[in-house]
Amino acid sequence: MQNTLHDVIIVGGGPAGLATAYLCHKNGLSYLVLESGKAIFQGIANTYPSGKLVYASKPKDAPDPFMVEELSPPDKPVTVESYLQYVQHFVQHEKLNIQTEVSFEDIKEERDGLIVSTSKGNFRGRKVVLSFGSNIPRELSVYGNAKMVAKNVDDTGKYIGIKTLVIGGGNTAADVIINILKAKREVNDTHPVYWAHKAEIFDVNKETAQRLGEEILLGGNIRLLPGAMPRIGEVDDEGVDRLVIRINEFKQSDGIDLYHALSFPMANVIACIGSQGPMPIFDKLGIQMIACTAGVCKVAKDGDRLVLLSAEFESTRKGVYVIGGAISPSFMKINEGAIAEEKHPNLIYTAINDAYLVVEAIRKKLAKTVGAV
Ligand SMILES: Cc1cc2nc3c(=O)[nH]c(=O)nc-3n(C[C@H](O)[C@H](O)[C@H](O)COP(=O)(O)OP(=O)(O)OC[C@H]3O[C@@H](n4cnc5c(N)ncnc54)[C@H](O)[C@@H]3O)c2cc1C
Repeated sequence: MQNTLHDVIIVGGGPAGLATAYLCHKNGLSYLVLESGKAIFQGIANTYPSGKLVYASKPKDAPDPFMVEELSPPDKPVTVESYLQYVQHFVQHEKLNIQTEVSFEDIKEERDGLIVSTSKGNFRGRKVVLSFGSNIPRELSVYGNAKMVAKNVDDTGKYIGIKTLVIGGGNTAADVIINILKAKREVNDTHPVYWAHKAEIFDVNKETAQRLGEEILLGGNIRLLPGAMPRIGEVDDEGVDRLVIRINEFKQSDGIDLYHALSFPMANVIACIGSQGPMPIFDKLGIQMIACTAGVCKVAKDGDRLVLLSAEFESTRKGVYVIGGAISPSFMKINEGAIAEEKHPNLIYTAINDAYLVVEAIRKKLAKTVGAV
């Protein structure tokens, strides 16, 4: 075990974790970032398609500016590659204290604070900030083995010359489609991209819809499959794993239903069906969650469990804070004795501004502790 007792151990080196680190650095708190990936911002590097533009999006009702301007994407969107490069330079320039390829496992109490156990041993901190994002992908609930389905796109080139199926009705799916259409357009590949969503309506923001519209006007070949349900993962006669997706269903009076379905090789399928959040980790840590019941939640669905946090993002494990994508799209906030669902959009803005609030709270608490000694 490392003997150094840091003021703050930060788990995850994405926008939330790095903003926390930078603010600790600026405020004279000792800290260490533990990142499981090979480099900082691994979550973004893994999930954004190459060439994707990064937007400095802000929720409509958010009054504050980006509280760590240094990590905010520029107002004029840049590609994810340039944003990552810029952040790398910034981290090197500020000499932020980061250890990569260290995977977080557990937290235990000790007399002076907390012990964080990881794949590379134990680290000690007075406070722990969990900022490991939300990228625990939801699995497709289909029979058979659908594990081969790509969860995101890191190389659009793989989809050139083939019919591609993208599943999911939100911005991430739309972003992936835009990038594949663009890559196909550049090499005159006319094979379509099928866009399937289990609901009848696709739910994308205006900005994404505009970019998608542009791609279509420029010749993007897209086929919409609203109301389509992935049903079976199967292996065909040639040993190819396939995904069968039902696109129409006709109920017959004789009780025998008629279906139309398409079958895609799994390698052609990209599932952008969101993430289930890091609930298993919260359970393991004994962080309390509250189930949404009887229509109490507006963002989350009935039955979803939301992590319970104070207004300063402290969990029910004392000294353990949770911020950023890990608590999106909503959490249960304890405020002045009441508990209510709090909307928390999964944006770089939210991640960065959570960090600001948390570091302010930790500064106050640590100052109090020092004062009390
Ligand atoms: C395709 C796509 C496009 C998007 N486009 C935009 C956009 O244009 N503008 C915008 O504002 N937002 C966008 N978002 C959302 C934005 O990327 C997230 O809100 C943001 O990355 C959340 O930051 P975070 O630090 O909380 O989590 P992450 O960025 O996910 O960072 C978490 C970090 O923790 C690490 N980690 C995970 N588990 C462990 C572990 N056990 N131990 C140690 N480290 C761990 C991960 O490797 C990762 O580096 C997009 C998201 C996607 C998927």
